[in-house]
Amino acid sequence: MCSSAEGDGTLAAPGGVVADGGAAATRPDAALVTDLVNANHILFHQKVVDAFGHVSVRHDKRPDRFLLARNMAPARVTADDIVEFDLDGTPVNANGRAVYLERFIHSAIYRARPDVGAVVHNHSPAVIPFGLVKSVPLRAVCHMSGFLGEATPVFEIRDHAGPASDMLIRNGELGAALARSFGANDVAVLMRGHGSTVIGEDVRTAVFRAVYVEANARLQAEALRLGPITYMTPEESVNSAVANKGQITRAWDLWVDLAEGKL
Ligand code: MN
Repeated sequence: MCSSAEGDGTLAAPGGVVADGGAAATRPDAALVTDLVNANHILFHQKVVDAFGHVSVRHDKRPDRFLLARNMAPARVTADDIVEFDLDGTPVNANGRAVYLERFIHSAIYRARPDVGAVVHNHSPAVIPFGLVKSVPLRAVCHMSGFLGEATPVFEIRDHAGPASDMLIRNGELGAALARSFGANDVAVLMRGHGSTVIGEDVRTAVFRAVYVEANARLQAEALRLGPITYMTPEESVNSAVANKGQITRAWDLWVDLAEGKL
């Protein structure tokens, strides 16, 4: 079994075979695995991920573990592709299957933020310009994305990896730096020239937010072309986020049916 060269200055290909850590796996709740598989499919059908990007959930029985697919396109993920990882990003039961190089995004956030139950990392296109233009923060322009509030932090990888990185979160140190860029109330962080990472207390919330982060970015860019924007107030943002929290199941059920080709 070969191990990818991460953190030693060698740029391994993005995703490879990593030896399992040797600890025993713990079987997660089947419903949690089903939600994670559905999350993978929804994010593809809602155009948040393409061949790239990934979604994880904290293990329901081991808060020091999380579940993430093996290295593959999200739309193709089945329950058999879900791998358990520890909070160092070391697989528990990959059993020789290649894993995502950027799994450290997930491991570092779960380690730093006990309140986070799910993480979506993606390269959805409308969001990326807001990571490039410092003078225009991504912020809530629509009630469905009120959770964005007044500004979204931007992670600048050059501050941590210098001017010649490959832009990827390829070790635990970069993951920890990304995790630190989330303020207490932030649910998304933009990654300059790369994409974004969205968090939630559970996988349905994280997926809902990831879909509407992309929608908000499209709307904000459209509005900016027309003229000065009337942004939502902090109170409008908070109140609409609270109101929508109770409606996530409605979106989730629709998105699952769409992803399964039932509608
Ligand atoms: Mn990425």
